[in-house]
Amino acid sequence: MPLRYLDALATESAGMVRLLRILLVASVLVPSLLFAAIAWHDHGEVEAEAERNIRKTVLILHEHTRKVFDTVEQVLDRMDERTAGMSWDEIGRSEDLHGYLRTLIEELPQIGIVGMIDPNGTVRNGSRLFPIPPTNVGDREYFRTQASADAGAFISEAITGRGSGKRQFNVTRRRSAAGGRPFDGILLTAVPTDYLVDFYQLVVSDPKESISLVRRDGSVLVRFPSMGDRQTRHAADSTLLGAMAEGRTEGVFRTRGRIDGVTRLNGFMHVAPYPIYVTYGVPMNEIRAGWARNLLIYAAFAVPATLALVGITLLALRRAQSEMRAVRRWSQEARAREALENALRQSQKLEALGQLTGGVAHDFNNLLTAALANLHLMERHLPADGIRYLDGTRTALERARTLTGQLLAFSRQEAVDPKVLDLGDSLRTMADLLERSIRADIALDWTLPVAPVRVEVDPVQLELAVLNLVVNARDAMPAGGRIRIAARREDTPDGPLAVLEITDTGSGMPPEVAARAFEPFFTTKPHGRGTGLGLSMVYGFARQSGGNATISSAPRRGTVVRVTLPLSSRTPEPEAVPEAAAEMPDGPVRLLVVEDNALVLMATVEGLTQEGFEVVTADHGAAALEILERDAAFDVIVSDVVMPYGVSGIDLARRVQERWPGIRILLISGYSPESLTGLKADAAVLPKPFTPDQLAARVRALLRPVKAA
Ligand code: ADP
Ligand code: MG
Repeated sequence: MPLRYLDALATESAGMVRLLRILLVASVLVPSLLFAAIAWHDHGEVEAEAERNIRKTVLILHEHTRKVFDTVEQVLDRMDERTAGMSWDEIGRSEDLHGYLRTLIEELPQIGIVGMIDPNGTVRNGSRLFPIPPTNVGDREYFRTQASADAGAFISEAITGRGSGKRQFNVTRRRSAAGGRPFDGILLTAVPTDYLVDFYQLVVSDPKESISLVRRDGSVLVRFPSMGDRQTRHAADSTLLGAMAEGRTEGVFRTRGRIDGVTRLNGFMHVAPYPIYVTYGVPMNEIRAGWARNLLIYAAFAVPATLALVGITLLALRRAQSEMRAVRRWSQEARAREALENALRQSQKLEALGQLTGGVAHDFNNLLTAALANLHLMERHLPADGIRYLDGTRTALERARTLTGQLLAFSRQEAVDPKVLDLGDSLRTMADLLERSIRADIALDWTLPVAPVRVEVDPVQLELAVLNLVVNARDAMPAGGRIRIAARREDTPDGPLAVLEITDTGSGMPPEVAARAFEPFFTTKPHGRGTGLGLSMVYGFARQSGGNATISSAPRRGTVVRVTLPLSSRTPEPEAVPEAAAEMPDGPVRLLVVEDNALVLMATVEGLTQEGFEVVTADHGAAALEILERDAAFDVIVSDVVMPYGVSGIDLARRVQERWPGIRILLISGYSPESLTGLKADAAVLPKPFTPDQLAARVRALLRPVKAA
């Protein structure tokens, strides 16, 4: 089944589209998440790496500072040794000592100046000048500290040297006391900050990095970048002093610089045994810049790859979407086609049934015609008390006539006599009849148009159709209900149409019943109650009139039968008033009766002869033409329509109209062949079956002189 296959395909392609949508989201999300994860991880890595570098650099700075202090201590030792046993006077006068001191530090850039200071604070000898200009440093922190107690190697704050005029810090030691004197002056070395700053400059890789030497009390001895002559110290609550107080000898911490406001990652280390710490700080910006550089490199790989992935997925999605749309279109088309094929099959079935019932009904009609004619003749020859026996037979034959009429209506082969009429008016005249056909517990509602809705149909058939529909509605409402009869003009896609709708509130039909309800002999009613010919008649009537009939119904929802009919643009014909006194032409009326069915022919001829007509017969159309060639003195030709040997009643009528326009033609037929339309104006039609009386009346009507209306 191609439709099932298409449905499966549609589901599959919809699934594909869904999958690709998810993939599209994933193709953006997964690389993004991965990138974020890598960035996060790399952030940690970069900080760890920065910390390792800081520790390494701090170690180098520590080693360097240790070496500086070692040298300083050795110089102090040399000075002490050289002056051991010398009095302050001797020291002050010795140019030799000055020379010694000068050469002692000549090769040592880390020591700017050395000097000997007596217990009063007067500088007595030194490496710079000789004789020395009078200088007193008794007010200096380092002097006072050493004078009050032996401070070992004491390291001063950063100061501007009075002798050198340079920025420096001093390392002092008490002179080894001779002869047990408690305080015999101090030995002094000065470390120029310039020397250290020059070295630090070589260590840092960025001018924003900072290096400093800090005394345990927070006083900053040297700092890079240089801060000039300003004396700075760490606040007591600084992280570094906190770490010192805890006794930590090294570590890494993060601070916001009080001096420059830059956030840094700092490392520090104690330069044992001195109360001195080296610190090294790297701005966080710099660390982050390194991280950002890494991310940029990752992005350079990840972004194009992601874009390519997204592009490919998007392309695939577009393809799948258009495929899905196409499949949907196909399946819709296939569905529509299947519905159309079903409708076609249904109408073909009804058509075939119509052919079959039409054939049966036609033959049956001939028999009925013969029976009725003979019955009529019998009536004339029987004594009066015998006639009542015929009544039963006549009633039965009349019923049979109604039945064949309905069959022919379904097969659309009944002889019809369409007239232009107003649908609303016609329905209004039926009101009485319909009211009588329903029960008291059923209400009839009317929705009829005010403006005329003109259609061209057989009024008798219209009445029968409406009656059938109302009876069906009644039967569907055993407990009572409402029937609505509505007519209107409606604009449909096929143009304006007349619509007749019979709606009921009855039991409704399940789909399988609705599908077959138009079929002749289809009934759900108990045996003897339904014939199954009601709706088939309605359907045949609608189709024959150029319209259609449809059912919409569902169980317990009631039923709507909708009959559409083409609108007619012609105006209704006035009712023909039969003329009271018939003027018959002079002399006997000559008729030519053409009929292939011997039974019908016999009965017809008999009836007409008894009515006083002079009758000549022919078995078929060709035979009739032969007779006419020899003798055309006929007033009326009465002819069957369907006849053997190639000449039908219609052919015959056409020939006669051409050759012998004076002769009238009456066609008798069970069929109403479509080709009759061409002759409608001139050829009269009498539907079978008929009684001899009816035939005679029609013949006489034809012979009346035509009067202008
Ligand atoms: P019949 O009335 O003789 O059965 P119809 O051709 O008129 O034959 O109807 C055929 C069948 O359609 C009915 O037997 C009935 O089942 C169903 N039917 C017709 N009209 C209606 C209706 N208005 N409501 C419910 N069922 C209906
Ligand atoms: Mg019925």
